[in-house]
Amino acid sequence: MVRSLEEATTVKTRTTSSVQLSDDGRVQSHAAKVEEVEASTYVVPTDRRESDGTFAWDRTTVVVVRVLGGGMEGLGWTFADASAASLATGPLARAVVGLDAAATSAAWSAMNRAVRNIGRPGLAWEAISAVDIALWDLRAKLLGLPLARLLGLERDSVRAYGSGGFTSYDDAALAAQLSAWRAAGFSAVKMKVGCSTVDDLRRVRVAREAIGPDVELFVDANGAWSRKQALYQIERFADFGVTWVEEPVSSEDLEGLRLLRDRAPAGVEIAAGEYGYVLDDFRRMLVANCVDVVQADITRCGGVTGILAVAALCEAFQMPLSAHCAPHLHAHVGCALRPLRHLEYFHDHARIEHLLFTGALEPRGGRLSPEPGLAGIGVTIAASAGRYLADG
Ligand SMILES: [Mg+2]
Repeated sequence: MVRSLEEATTVKTRTTSSVQLSDDGRVQSHAAKVEEVEASTYVVPTDRRESDGTFAWDRTTVVVVRVLGGGMEGLGWTFADASAASLATGPLARAVVGLDAAATSAAWSAMNRAVRNIGRPGLAWEAISAVDIALWDLRAKLLGLPLARLLGLERDSVRAYGSGGFTSYDDAALAAQLSAWRAAGFSAVKMKVGCSTVDDLRRVRVAREAIGPDVELFVDANGAWSRKQALYQIERFADFGVTWVEEPVSSEDLEGLRLLRDRAPAGVEIAAGEYGYVLDDFRRMLVANCVDVVQADITRCGGVTGILAVAALCEAFQMPLSAHCAPHLHAHVGCALRPLRHLEYFHDHARIEHLLFTGALEPRGGRLSPEPGLAGIGVTIAASAGRYLADG
């Protein structure tokens, strides 16, 4: 529910607006320009060895973009290869420096044109996402507004689900992580599957016993299975009350996803979309009618500008939307996304956001609530973040 007018008034007095109106309604401030784009790369080791059904990792790379303009700075980030930083400070900076800081649409279009010969989906779109988020953060700060309030509130907090349960965890670690999220008030948790049929069934049983009967159990196979393997596993997982199966087959296999969506037991939803970059990726998925819930990631799908378009597309297809990873960013924009069902409180990214940024949100009662008294996305780079700066 949106906060009361009284609370909203409090917000107005707690933020610093650079905009003033004269008696005849004229804006007194001058338009700020985008003056500079900077990017830094951070590499954060995982707290334990981690893997899912198709990949293993021991660190996460984060490219953080700063845009300067009007005496303020905007921050954005993407969980991408370090080479995204040189795209941000090279062709993307050349595309946006000098533009009106309020012209986030024009900046997005200019960046889109700038990467035509580099390749749009993938790395370039991750870099665009980080710059776009930083531009929106700057724009909101220049207006003295929290980002969600600038976008238009649909809600003032977003339901979150705990996400981790890596295949590298032993059963005790799996149970401990998921039951801690239940104790913290999360109403749903997600674990990784996709290693072996026997191990997966045992681990799902362990998870269900850890969280009890009332917490929703989601699984993510990260595209590990063939179509028939997926069908076999989904039917067995349903016996343990699994209600969400993510990427049971590769998210590029739209026909396979469609088959599984049609054949899965009632009550089991098929989800995919985390590798959606440009808007056409989401259009193809929606036209194929192959999922029950579309996922999108603001750090991949073109930032705030991109995910607003994805949400509109989902709405046109009567499709619920779920936000993938990057919980702090999705909490802010998610308050304005009408079809959003929930966001993913991903263990790695929640930890990284707290290590790198002062002001990263903590879940309360299974929800993330942006601080209404802070402009933009409400974070600054933490003093201790420097220890994770990548060499060079
Ligand atoms: Mg996933």
